[in-house]
Amino acid sequence: MNSRIYFDHSATTPLDPRVLDAMAPFLGGAFGNPSSLHREGRMAREAVEKARAQVAALISAQPEEIVFTASGTEADNLALIGAVRASGKPGHIVTSAIEHAAILETCRFLAESGAKITHLPVDAEGIVRTDSLLRALQSNVTLVSIMAANNVVGTLEPIEELAHLTKLHGVLFHSDAVQAGGKIPLDVNRLHVDLLSLSAHKLHGPKGVGALYVHKNVKLSPIIFGGGQERGLRSATENVAGIVGLGAAAEIARQELESDAVRLAQFRENIALELTRQFPNCYVFGHAVHRLPGHLSFGFRGQERELGGLLSALDAAGVAVSAGSACSAQHSGEPSPVLLAMGYDAESARGLLRLSLGRFNTEQEVERFLEILPQAVASAAHVPRNSAASALTAVAAQ
Ligand code: PLP
Repeated sequence: MNSRIYFDHSATTPLDPRVLDAMAPFLGGAFGNPSSLHREGRMAREAVEKARAQVAALISAQPEEIVFTASGTEADNLALIGAVRASGKPGHIVTSAIEHAAILETCRFLAESGAKITHLPVDAEGIVRTDSLLRALQSNVTLVSIMAANNVVGTLEPIEELAHLTKLHGVLFHSDAVQAGGKIPLDVNRLHVDLLSLSAHKLHGPKGVGALYVHKNVKLSPIIFGGGQERGLRSATENVAGIVGLGAAAEIARQELESDAVRLAQFRENIALELTRQFPNCYVFGHAVHRLPGHLSFGFRGQERELGGLLSALDAAGVAVSAGSACSAQHSGEPSPVLLAMGYDAESARGLLRLSLGRFNTEQEVERFLEILPQAVASAAHVPRNSAASALTAVAAQ
């Protein structure tokens, strides 16, 4: 009963032991370069291509539509910068106000080189408004990029509807599915997306490897130049062990996604019910139905400034949770831009605690968390403001 409870799977997930087993040979004896023609090289190539097929199967894509990258961030950069560069124009990106920094900062970079950026508003539950997308599509747009699931509040966006509308206007659609991959079913054909980003470490795979789905008719320009690996879209010797890990993680997720989702949604429901029962001032952020199964973001009305103390108290009691807000905002002690975009006032937007559960969490852990919580809340009230702020800063992983 002394072991820690890890409830921060939106920041990163522990490696599934089956993924580690799949990777192990490629961290040892099977060290070949997939571009080499000898037996060692051919073995590595075979492993990379198997992983490509596994990742493709997770999202119902063709293997040749998967480009391996070094992260979800890089997949997002390649999608946006690659589409704008391929268009041969300064470009116009339409995105939402609540995207991850991997999208927002890439947009900022593109704006510096002359691109127009439109940020669509969201409603109080974090859903991108279709009417605002329709209005934005009246002008010349290069690409629409909307995340599949929000990393702060867990809301799922209506990607199928938004992408369908976008396609009717002949515009490319990208979705950052880093938080959604392996947690909810994703079928690129049904969703009508042209580009979709994934990251291995969010689905019990290794850190430092991601993938971009690129529909076979989509023209992208590379953003990294060199030996022409990954069909010229991502030069560099492949991270074979990492790619094998992503492939294995995708395969396991495809098989276990449904049962994981049912179990995690039930855990989340139990925690949410208990929280609102024990603490009348507790309020839950995000959409009530359209949300990630194991994700729960909440605050306490009137105690927004004590949440950093609560995070520290939980950590000291053996539970890892997150502040779930943008890094920059927490450094400056500012309210979360995601909550502000959802219409929360500056004070309510200051405090948010994010619990994100994963495959290896158990019912006993949920029960133990609910036992620990009241004491942690009580002690949080006594934590001085400064240490609360630094606790928030320290855990601002997305
Ligand atoms: N997009 C979203 C929605 C994320 O939550 C994250 C990571 O937290 C990323 C992109 C970046 O992924 P990576 O950590 O693989 O660069």
